[in-house]
Amino acid sequence: MNDLTTVERMPRAELERLQLARLRALVARAAERVPLYRDRLRTAGVRADDLRSLADLRRLPFTVKADFRDAYPYGLLAVPLDEVVRIHASSGTTGKPTVVAYTRGDIETWTHAMARTLRAGAVGPGDVVQNAYGYGLFTGGLGFHYGAERVGAAVVPISGGFTERQLAALQDLGATVLCCTPSYALHLAEAVEDAGLEPKDLRLRVGFFGAEPWTEGMRDAIESRLDLMALNIYGLSEVIGPGVSVECPERRGMHVAEDLFLPEIVDPQTLEPLPAGATGELVLTTLTKEALPVLRYRTRDLTSIDPEACPCGRTLVRIGRITGRTDDMLIVRGVNVYPSQIEHALLQISDVAPQYVLVLRRDSALDTLEIRVEGQAAVAAAGADAMRALAARVRRRVHEVIGITAEVTVVPPRTLERSIGKARRVEDLRG
Ligand code: AMP
Ligand code: ZN
Repeated sequence: MNDLTTVERMPRAELERLQLARLRALVARAAERVPLYRDRLRTAGVRADDLRSLADLRRLPFTVKADFRDAYPYGLLAVPLDEVVRIHASSGTTGKPTVVAYTRGDIETWTHAMARTLRAGAVGPGDVVQNAYGYGLFTGGLGFHYGAERVGAAVVPISGGFTERQLAALQDLGATVLCCTPSYALHLAEAVEDAGLEPKDLRLRVGFFGAEPWTEGMRDAIESRLDLMALNIYGLSEVIGPGVSVECPERRGMHVAEDLFLPEIVDPQTLEPLPAGATGELVLTTLTKEALPVLRYRTRDLTSIDPEACPCGRTLVRIGRITGRTDDMLIVRGVNVYPSQIEHALLQISDVAPQYVLVLRRDSALDTLEIRVEGQAAVAAAGADAMRALAARVRRRVHEVIGITAEVTVVPPRTLERSIGKARRVEDLRG
């Protein structure tokens, strides 16, 4: 492939020199501008000048999601608010979202990273990109939008949902590229079949799917049912959004945009770096971000790094599929959900008891969340109507707090199974 950028096929030694120079500049900037980093770097006894090789990365302090919550909303910013041109957010662990901010330079970096993502599927002028990632606070929609415009494709900013409209747009506007979560892609494939259409009635060629875990089995299903090449993409808002890594057509792991985001794999218990090939927690350091530089962000995502040369010509390392998380975060229709958030919402309603089970299913490719919660004795005594009214209140509250519609069943007190030891609050039946 000769349309790779120089940096994507840079000899490793040269790339590593670039990374080290950027890392030192990052540490200097973080220490100067962000009190949290200044304190932690001082405690760790590291200054930018102490970083002699990339191996010194391990001397730097980690950053975790709770740091974003504690600094909510702007405490981690390395620039004054008047240099910020964009704000996104993703769900946090306890109600407060994680707020992320971008300077004009950051939007440029992100656009460039997304353009590289799309070019991995050879997207360019003449392509029509149906962008069914959500537009809004979520980074997926606008991230892909800017990248698609940058590569010169025509972007259809249709956003998520409204399956009938998606189908009509696929047919009428002739999308060659589909961007959405893998579960939604599968849902669209079913809708295509239900409408009596076949893949040959559409012009889809390539899809960029991510924002939630998926499997090779799902890839096979999506590829055969929509007749396109399905590429895995990975990113997270704390780091930038999508654009951190993408598969090339070899489809053997996602190349990390290492000139911008420095990856490590650490043992989630000891936090010691692990060698290539070993599975552990992915840790990312942003090398060039201005508004929100992040040192060694613990993603909680489990994967491994493959440094082997790739036939595509990219010298950038690849990360494997995300195989799990080190915390209890669930992703429901692309929305990050922590059981603790739901618990928090439930406990604000005095008529429910603090006993609940979350049941996740995949009905015709779309995730559903059922919440079974015990009502207080008085509500149960008041009868079925009172229980139903309570369920409706719970549904509204949960929707307000986490933004997804759950099916809520209020059951009589003491009817949910009690566990010995750790409560099993989540039944994930999505397979
Ligand atoms: P957000 O910050 O809301 O975009 O969520 C980021 C999280 O989504 C990541 O930390 C992962 O847990 C998950 N995620 C994103 N892309 C993928 C992917 N391709 N495979 C598995 N999980 C993903
Ligand atoms: Zn490759």
